[in-house]
Amino acid sequence: MSAQILDGRSIARDIRREVRLEVAELTKRTGLVPCLATILVGNDPASTTYVRNKVRACMEVGIVSVGIDLPADLPQDALLHEIARLNRDPSVHAILVQLPLPPHISERLILETILPEKDVDGFHPSNLGGLLAGSPLFVASTPLGILELLTRSNVAIEGKHAVVVGWSVVVGKPTAFLLLQQQATVTICHIKTRDLGFHTRQGDILVVAAGKPALVTGSMVKEGAVVIDVGVNRLADGSLVGDVSFPDVAAKVSLITPVPGGVGPMTVAMLLKNTVHACRLACGGASRGGVESVH
Ligand code: NAD
Repeated sequence: MSAQILDGRSIARDIRREVRLEVAELTKRTGLVPCLATILVGNDPASTTYVRNKVRACMEVGIVSVGIDLPADLPQDALLHEIARLNRDPSVHAILVQLPLPPHISERLILETILPEKDVDGFHPSNLGGLLAGSPLFVASTPLGILELLTRSNVAIEGKHAVVVGWSVVVGKPTAFLLLQQQATVTICHIKTRDLGFHTRQGDILVVAAGKPALVTGSMVKEGAVVIDVGVNRLADGSLVGDVSFPDVAAKVSLITPVPGGVGPMTVAMLLKNTVHACRLACGGASRGGVESVH
């Protein structure tokens, strides 16, 4: 078997086109233009690029973006103050703090300070708890993008065995809960999991988010599985690879995401969708975060 490619770039383009229409309709009806504030502390090159891509994507669909660049030695209190100001500003509907933050700043405290109804990254405990309860205001963009990629590619999830490698708050845990909500049987693996291959071979759907190049090889996947490679790893030669050994895994599975061009573009597209959702929340026209609740 040779896998079909799950083309995140093309699906994300469709979503961005839909978001552009949504923004125009929302603005016409309410007079509001969705606005995302991005906070970047320091000048880490990868973070700077991520923020720049998000800002550009906003502009392309008619979302206003307010970029706040702060020095790496900014005191934690000053950042808290800035977030409080954005929380109060009615023209700002969505707030994103680019991670990681410098070590002297508590990420947990910062993320808890963002109002849940402006928390488009979905990292506030209230939104994480909402995901557990099946009714979050926001779900993090990457897990939401993974679900959207599967759904738009007509991958049936209900009753399937989904295996998620990685249990971070950013990717692994929310992805596992979204798949559970779609009534998959879910296994979560992590660094302490014994015999990773035993578990990954059970996966009809395998999501790998470990940040380890070639962690999953051909012998570790089920024939015909659907593989979502979330990993982004920069090799010494400058090339970008995922967590899955692409040639040997692609030879065995039915669908696979490439890196780059798989999950990455979906993450940005879902951030735009979440920002429009935040604007709808601000005008009282929405109540949930892009996932239907099933029990
Ligand atoms: P993280 O470091 O917070 O978590 C990694 C997880 O992988 C941990 O739970 C750890 O237990 C697990 N893990 C590590 N080594 C393992 C091993 N040998 N066996 C089994 N489990 C192992 O990272 P993260 O923030 O969840 O990101 C994971 C990867 O996804 C990174 O490469 C990151 O760059 C990428 N990422 C991509 C996007 C995107 O939009 N494409 C978004 C977020 C993260």
